[in-house]
Amino acid sequence: MPDIPFDNTYARLPERFFAKQDPARVPMPEGIRINASLAASLRIDPDWLASSEGIAMLAGNTIPIGAEPLAQAYAGHQFGGFSPQLGDGRALLLGEIIDTDGVRRDLQLKGSGRTLFSRGGDGKAALGPVLREYILSEAMHALGVPTTRALAAVTTGETILRQDGPLPGAVFTRVAASHLRVGTFQYFAAQQDREAVRELADYTIARHYPEVHNQNHATCPYLTLLKSVIQSQAELIAQWMSLGFIHGVMNTDNTAISGETIDYGPCAFMDAFHPQCVFSSIDQQARYAWGNQPSIALWNLTRFAETLLPLFDDNTERATDMAKSALSEFSDYFGQQYMTRFRAKFGLPVDAPETIIQRGLSLLADQQIDFTLFFRHLTRIAAGDSPETLSSMFTDKGPFETWFTQWRDASDPAKRLPSLRAANPILIPRNHRVEQAIQAAYAGDYAPFHRLTDALATPYSEQENEADLETPPTPDEIVTETFCGT
Ligand code: AMP
Ligand code: MG
Repeated sequence: MPDIPFDNTYARLPERFFAKQDPARVPMPEGIRINASLAASLRIDPDWLASSEGIAMLAGNTIPIGAEPLAQAYAGHQFGGFSPQLGDGRALLLGEIIDTDGVRRDLQLKGSGRTLFSRGGDGKAALGPVLREYILSEAMHALGVPTTRALAAVTTGETILRQDGPLPGAVFTRVAASHLRVGTFQYFAAQQDREAVRELADYTIARHYPEVHNQNHATCPYLTLLKSVIQSQAELIAQWMSLGFIHGVMNTDNTAISGETIDYGPCAFMDAFHPQCVFSSIDQQARYAWGNQPSIALWNLTRFAETLLPLFDDNTERATDMAKSALSEFSDYFGQQYMTRFRAKFGLPVDAPETIIQRGLSLLADQQIDFTLFFRHLTRIAAGDSPETLSSMFTDKGPFETWFTQWRDASDPAKRLPSLRAANPILIPRNHRVEQAIQAAYAGDYAPFHRLTDALATPYSEQENEADLETPPTPDEIVTETFCGT
């Protein structure tokens, strides 16, 4: 077995941060897909990873030298309700690797069996959710969004039981800047374990926000940590929204402190635009709708701030004021990020009135226009096409024509095209395509999964042979609900 250059730090933290656990053995590991370029960036030989030895490791049947498998402890607010103990119930951190850019990355198996945190669950993952996370996380990366990555997907030869019956088992290998969550802080804060919160905060600063230490010594480093996390969340959510992405389970245990998108359960990209759009079958109250994401992020950040209060000041009132003041900056910061992204998306200059963006989005919502396709056609107009195709998307032409004239007058013909091209993907992982790829895989055909994953690697490029992946679903292809499937 070749050396995987593990350099573990989480395993050196106090024992109450995790539970050591080896992966479960599985009967018949088989590779589905290996991410060769990601493997190379982690200094893992992609050919070895794709070999039977590599697949055995990815399925959890062998533990590579230097790995220290462990389940991380965390808590979390799920749909607003607090669970003091969640933790990795079906995932194991194998260890960390410094990648070729010098960034420390976690290597994690998901679906590798029961842990101390499994509660009633089997610790396993079904094939569908594994493929979903592979497609979605790699698509997000190619779209330029901070995200955990997919190193590999393998099947295990096991059959696992889920609500809709027996399904093939699979293991997903996730690579992340870290798996530290708001919920990790909550776990210790709920136990009033102030020392652990401090240790975790110091660890987080060293790993993700080392610049905190460059600041003026009079400022509390933990307050700067909070501000840094507020900024990275604001940037992330603005980016999600500009792509029509709905995370679907923005629980505090699914909010990564690094600012990466994590946990691709029932997430989805919108087809027809609507701010209240929701797909997740478990989000009955539409808590995590597209347009609610900034306020939910702020809610989650407020829970994060609460865990840090004792580190800010011994005086609770002073500490609370410090947290409030930091949190109050979220909304302006998010607003700027959002407007910057949407200005670029509409190809508008910085001094263009925001009302053009707001009216444009209302128009899309009123007439249920496909979000991605609208911007695709707008880009074509900027490239010299007639407005006819765009206009034909609207049943009520009057409001569209009024808006279009405003847009044309406000945008600079010499500058809008590069902006539109850079901000608007041609290809997104549309729900119906993801669903078709999963269903084909269940029937033994992985070709649609590979084709979709390959095409999504260059989402901003014209790919003539993939034109059918661009189009919105036909009425019978529409996916109205997405599932966690765990
Ligand atoms: P998630 O869907 O990843 O946000 O998971 C929420 C919580 O449920 C986490 O603590 C998971 O570890 C746990 N969980 C989800 N699926 C399983 C499973 N199949 N077995 C054990 N625990 C699970
Ligand atoms: Mg989760």
